[in-house]
Amino acid sequence: MKFCSACGAGVALRIPDGDALPRFVCEACGTIHYQNPKMVVGALAVWEDRILLCRRAIEPRHGLWTLPAGFMENDETTGQAAIRETMEEACARIELTELYTLVNVPHISQVHMLYRARLLDVDFAPGPESLEVALMREDEIPWDEIAFRSIALTLRHFFADRREGHFRFRVADLPPPPAA
Ligand code: ZN
Repeated sequence: MKFCSACGAGVALRIPDGDALPRFVCEACGTIHYQNPKMVVGALAVWEDRILLCRRAIEPRHGLWTLPAGFMENDETTGQAAIRETMEEACARIELTELYTLVNVPHISQVHMLYRARLLDVDFAPGPESLEVALMREDEIPWDEIAFRSIALTLRHFFADRREGHFRFRVADLPPPPAA
């Protein structure tokens, strides 16, 4: 950040009085611009023994597969975000079952939350951010073409839990990916 969004003056990175971490502080109006993690919320929606997946039409990870998910908006709940993202990316109507995975991704300051959900009908279609939307059985999942580690982790837990006949809430912390 270079300029204050409140007054347009320059900002400096420094530790404000009484704080412990450096923040962008406006040198003119004194506004402290806190930057905090972003929430990414989505859904693992099920139809019979199949899962709803989207192939991404946007960067990052264009062309790879993911569960419908995206950044939470202001003034909505996590459940509303999961339902909205599924409608935007897959034009699909779902009913949430329960919160299933919470994945901390601290090196990019994100928290990912995926709900289990029930697809209400099979009248889905790619939204503007998707190339393709499909219902896949476990043996059809393109494991080498999953866009994000939090999504692959959620899918793996889902199929393992389904085999055991019992789903439980999972929390995971992802380290930075190995250097390429
Ligand atoms: Zn300012």
